[in-house]
Amino acid sequence: MIFAEKISPNFNRKKRPRNMIKFLIIHYTGMQSERESINRLCDPNSKVSCHYLINSSGKIYRLVSEKNTSWHAGKSKWQKYRNLNSYSLGIELVNKGHRWGYKNFKAKQIKNLIKLCKYLKKKYNLKKQNILGHSDIAPLRKKDPGEKFPWKKLAKKQLGVWHDLKSETLQKMRKIKINKKDRKVFFSNLRKIGYFVKPSLKIKELNKITKAFQRHFRAELANGISDLECLKISINLSKKYQKKA
Ligand SMILES: [Zn+2]
Repeated sequence: MIFAEKISPNFNRKKRPRNMIKFLIIHYTGMQSERESINRLCDPNSKVSCHYLINSSGKIYRLVSEKNTSWHAGKSKWQKYRNLNSYSLGIELVNKGHRWGYKNFKAKQIKNLIKLCKYLKKKYNLKKQNILGHSDIAPLRKKDPGEKFPWKKLAKKQLGVWHDLKSETLQKMRKIKINKKDRKVFFSNLRKIGYFVKPSLKIKELNKITKAFQRHFRAELANGISDLECLKISINLSKKYQKKA
């Protein structure tokens, strides 16, 4: 693949062995404009970057070499992994995000994201389970890429995982309350999937993790409340994520 280059200085100078690369993490830029986003990701004072950025017309920029750890994920956790920067490639999609006017991702942008993900998945022999959003690995801090991101479409192309439940069946379960015992099952499934769930978390934190799960797997309603639909999806997915990352 051919990329346009923009050089970001925000990466670890020491190169990593290629078998350390296990995850693709998808972001949105969450800034007012493309230019502002690129400037920030290349500004030595910002201390943030990514490997690739895709603008709304689908143009792909490379900011940091895949061999280097770029600074896109921050404090993060997934399954047994901590601080996923070291184990991942970060891809930013230009989008104003929740703060400035969250927009649908453009068709060309997603088309080229799919191309890029296929290329990287093959190159590093990545598992489809390990293609995730920033909010999956940092649910207490992050919302990106958000509920407008087409996870199901990517999963159809083996880029990510999706459940195999019928949407008509699921819709009937939406907003149906679950009891305390089932809520426990729900969070235990989230942990099996990879989300960072532990007993000491506060209710507010658990709600944020629920929201992150919903943004990814039940984007029609991301309200932070686990209902019967969420429970069923979590049961189905926990089996699919059993294969460890
Ligand atoms: Zn992000």
